[in-house]
Amino acid sequence: MFTASPLLAKHGVQALFSDRDGGVSSSPFDSLNLGLGLGDSAANIEKNLNILISASAIPVPHQTQQVHTTKVFHCSGKGQMHEIEADVLISNQIGTSLAVRTADCLPILIADSKAGIVAAVHAGWRGSVARVAEVAVKAMLDLGARRQDMMASLGPCIGDCCFEINTDIAMQLAQSCGEDVITQREGVIYANLAKTNELQLIQAGLAAGNIETLGICTVCCHSPSYFSYRRDHGQTGRQLSIIHLA
Ligand SMILES: [Zn+2]
Repeated sequence: MFTASPLLAKHGVQALFSDRDGGVSSSPFDSLNLGLGLGDSAANIEKNLNILISASAIPVPHQTQQVHTTKVFHCSGKGQMHEIEADVLISNQIGTSLAVRTADCLPILIADSKAGIVAAVHAGWRGSVARVAEVAVKAMLDLGARRQDMMASLGPCIGDCCFEINTDIAMQLAQSCGEDVITQREGVIYANLAKTNELQLIQAGLAAGNIETLGICTVCCHSPSYFSYRRDHGQTGRQLSIIHLA
């Protein structure tokens, strides 16, 4: 049902990444689909969210309309689905949980447990080109977080084993993030989303040892398995990645 972040747990922050097992939805959303508006019923998604939050003892998270930008939304009060468009959710309120939905894009959960500030970030290739991870760090610093106290966990996403990209995207990623995030095998170009964002977090001032990469590929990992937009040709559900400031 989910994988917890060992790094954030060590620092007293609850953070988890759901997979596709343990829910009630049927194919192609089988079974723990947490994405609304994709063809699955709202009732199923509500049941799935309840299953996940009861199993993890996390409060209902804040969620936004994700649009592959660097927009930041400050969350407080009771968790809910907001109409606002944002790809960075941030909070300094105890008891708040934040979540992003993904199916190949990279979920990043960041915490400064000393300052009591958390963020959840949705980073696909567009957000990575726009340096959304760096924007999230800056928003946390603005609230009073300190670079040396920030911990980040990079969750399941399409790996560089499977993330074939065209030359246009490769050029944009290389220009924004450097050549190291692109590899070429037998004439095909692949991008490494996790590495791209790990580098951005380091450039934003986080210590390399304070960044954890789960290294799970949503396309080719089968135990557990994940929703993958690319593998399932767009007909699929969404994972939820949640961080909880307790
Ligand atoms: Zn893969």
